[in-house]
Amino acid sequence: MDTGLAGRKAIICASSKGLGRACAEALAAEGSDVVINGRTEETVAATAAAIRTSYPAISVGEVACDVTQPEGQQALLAACPQPDILVNNAGGPSPGDFRDWDRDDWIKALDSNMLAAIMLIKATVDGMIERRFGRIINITSAAVKAPIPILGLSNGARAGLTGFCAGLSRETVAHNVTINGLLPGPFNTDRLKQTMANRAQPGESFNDTMAREAQGNPAKRFGDPAEFGAACAFLASTQAGYITGQNLVLDGGSFRGTL
Ligand code: NAP
Repeated sequence: MDTGLAGRKAIICASSKGLGRACAEALAAEGSDVVINGRTEETVAATAAAIRTSYPAISVGEVACDVTQPEGQQALLAACPQPDILVNNAGGPSPGDFRDWDRDDWIKALDSNMLAAIMLIKATVDGMIERRFGRIINITSAAVKAPIPILGLSNGARAGLTGFCAGLSRETVAHNVTINGLLPGPFNTDRLKQTMANRAQPGESFNDTMAREAQGNPAKRFGDPAEFGAACAFLASTQAGYITGQNLVLDGGSFRGTL
């Protein structure tokens, strides 16, 4: 399948590792120019270098910044002023009890998992509409569909982004600009490994915790980030122009619902 992604320009937020990186790699493999982002300069540089080595024909930009801050968003837009593809992503908020969170905790979560994406959409969507091509993909969480009580900050902020995009996506699609969410369940990334380290039972090795937790998934394994990247590349493709306002759960079947 020719995805029509060759020569497209993509900003992939929070892409020096994990799911963001997998999206960048999948888009790069299809011939899109990519901008790699993360707060840690060395990781951004290392990921960008690896993608350049694998795909020497494309342009790979590097922006080390905090995407949740206005200056970070400006730096990304300066590196790629007219993106065809925008993948919104940022770190997830910490788990906890909502009784312990104050207003500042909520504002930080909203900046990370709702407002940064909305600000980048605001800055790019009209250009996409004028050029009659745009693909906006928000990395959120399976918790948007099946909320996890201790992830209240994530549930609230990501639901806000999802609700906002549900409306906007119906306006932009007539101009071949789509907005969709990718909702990861457990994928094998550094973040998942940190979570699993906290779930170890007494005397259990890290590998045994990983294996036990993976057995709890209908697929009997965690997701491979490359599988996530492939879904992102499809939603960014020419062929996906009739898919908008959707939220695709990638969780090995953990969400037990008919629809
Ligand atoms: P990860 O492996 O820890 O990677 C996170 C990436 O984001 C790193 O490149 C990190 O680099 C960058 N990053 C974090 N905060 C940033 C910020 N403020 N500005 C710019 N870059 C930032 O995490 P992941 O597993 O890919 O998770 C990605 C998103 O999916 C998170 O929101 C997570 O909550 C959500 N999610 C993941 C899973 C899963 O199983 N993996 C499941 C559900 C939801 P620096 O640290 O250097 O900035």
